Order: sequence, then structure tokens, then C-alpha cells
Amino acid sequence: MIIRMKKDVREEDIKKVEDRIKEVGLTSSISRGANLVIIGVIGDITLLSPDLIEEIPGVDSIMRVSRPYKLVSREFCPTDRSVRIGDVKIGGGSFTVIAGPCAVESKDQMIDSAKIVKSLGGDMLRGGAFKPRTSPYDFQGLGEEGLKYLKEASLETGLPFVTEVTGENKIDVVMEYADMLQIGARNMRSYDLLKKIGEATSVNKMPVLLKRGDNATLEEFLNAAEYLAKEGNENIILCLRGIRTFECGKFVRNTADIGMIPVLKKETGLPVLFDPSHSAGKRHLVIPYSLAAVGAGADGLLVESHCDPESARCDGQQSLFEEELGKTINLCKKVYADLQAV
Ligand code: PEP
Ligand code: MN
Repeated sequence: MIIRMKKDVREEDIKKVEDRIKEVGLTSSISRGANLVIIGVIGDITLLSPDLIEEIPGVDSIMRVSRPYKLVSREFCPTDRSVRIGDVKIGGGSFTVIAGPCAVESKDQMIDSAKIVKSLGGDMLRGGAFKPRTSPYDFQGLGEEGLKYLKEASLETGLPFVTEVTGENKIDVVMEYADMLQIGARNMRSYDLLKKIGEATSVNKMPVLLKRGDNATLEEFLNAAEYLAKEGNENIILCLRGIRTFECGKFVRNTADIGMIPVLKKETGLPVLFDPSHSAGKRHLVIPYSLAAVGAGADGLLVESHCDPESARCDGQQSLFEEELGKTINLCKKVYADLQAV
């Protein structure tokens, strides 16, 4: 249920609505736009009689949310949302490029890769310290040591960083170092992990980047985001990264779900990033996919780049060389700005 308040609503009336929701054992979440206040009711709404709410002055209308996900829906928050990570703003009218290696491999590799991202105008760093690998024999990441190198690279360049949390027992240590948490495609359906991350970040509101599972519907994806929002953290960034279809393996790693960008943006005000690297699986496809994503309305990219892609221990075939990363950043930021101007 969504309660829309009148334009000139008084704070005391907002409080009355919140109190009434609390009295029947439900929780509320408030969305404040420039001139619109909306209160979302979370829980079994049959416990709350609409009459009890309607009589409060300042209440404009009550609507049932038609979607299974509520807090992340456009109905609840009609305006575009943005998420701040230090000086970086994702969503709400800017194009953000997060770049860096698939995995942190050594201090030098991370620092060299970070300096390249910085020098080319990238906004944030990426790098996996804990890697979810398909084969147990593949490089699993450097763990906490990797987080330390990420932090050093971040301090050296001034770029904040995102890194993946692969399990509940990694949340605390990753939060100690990172500026933004990543939930990978494989874990989009790990509901206990989503709840725990939502809970752990509900106080400091550390942003969470959630990737779409490779066989998840958009509704399942948005419901996964709802798990985080329900625990009290609305600083969520969605990331499309390609899905499994019959056309996966020979020519492309996944099928780029670029067409879902405008669909997602219609359903939710959350920022939407695109990951061309895991969609393509091949370096030569990263620039065209990135440009297509900008055209489709993405708020930014999560892209793999490396100081020496040929020596990468993980996903080297899809990691950009310096020159290609430069082209990607310049072209995408230019096209984004041109599109904003029309
Ligand atoms: C990654 O971004 O490093 C990653 C493992 O991606 P995904 O979860 O999309 O496979
Ligand atoms: Mn990767």
C-alpha cells in the first residue's frame, strides 16, 4: 500500500500516518520527492484499514501497489534516484564508469590498473578479492589481502571502489574496506545473503550494486532488490550483465540484455548500470555493447580493464587494454551528454 500525501502536507500529519502504521504492527518507508511525499506500508496490509488513514489531514490518496516489489517500484518513488559514493554520484543525470580488473591479483597489478582508470577519466574502481569461480581449481581471489590492495589503489587514485561479497561470512570484512558492495549474478537468489547485507548496511546505508542473475526474470531481479530495500537500505544500484540463452558460448559469453534497460527504468527509479564485459565475454564486443547501453538509457558501466590483460588470471579475454578503455569512457560520456542535451 502506498499513501500519497498532499503537496502542502505538515510534518505532524506525516508522523500521524507513520504512528498509525506502527500501531497495527506494520512498518513504513518514506519517499520524499521535490514536491511529493509518499509513505509505503510494508507487511500484511489487511491489518490496516484504509479508513483509519484517510481521515488524517494531509493524506491525498491511498493506492494498492500492483507490483510484488514495492519499495523499489516507480509507484513508490516516481522520480529517478541517485546514489552517492563519496564524490561520485550514480544515477539522476550523470554517466558513471566503474572500471578495473576482474580479480585483484597483486598490489602492483591493482595500483597500475587503478592509475589507468583514473588517468582516463573513470569514476570508480572495481576488482574482486573474493571470486565466485565456476571451477574450484580456478583462482579464487586473494581474500582480505586483495581488499587491502584495493584500498591502497583507491587511496592512491582518489577513486572509491566496489568489490563482491560472496557469502554471509564475508560481509563484515568487505564492509571494513569497500565503498560499495557487489552482489554477483550467482548470488542474486541467495536470499539469506540479501537479507543479511540489507541488515548490515541499513545503518550506514553503504551502497549495494546488485547484478541480475543469468537466468532471472526482471521481476525476480527487482524482488531481489526489494529484499535489500525492505531491510532499510535503499541505496541500491542495479546492474545488467547478460543472460543465458541458446546463443551463449561460441560467439558470446552471455546474451546482452541491453533491451531490458529501458524496461527496468520504467519499473524502477533505481540507477541501472550495464556490464558489457560479462555480457560479451570478448574484448572486441565491449565498445559496441557499451554504446548500445548508453543509447538504451543506462546510468553507467561496470567494465573490466587491466594493466596487462594478456597476463590476467581471470577474464583477461574480455578485459580492456588502456587504449580501449579510454575510447569506451570518452565515447560513452560524449554520447550520454549529447543525449541529455536533446
Ligand atoms: C564480476 O563482476 O566480477 C562478476 C563475477 O560478475 P557476475 O556476477 O556478473 O558473473
Ligand atoms: Mn569477471
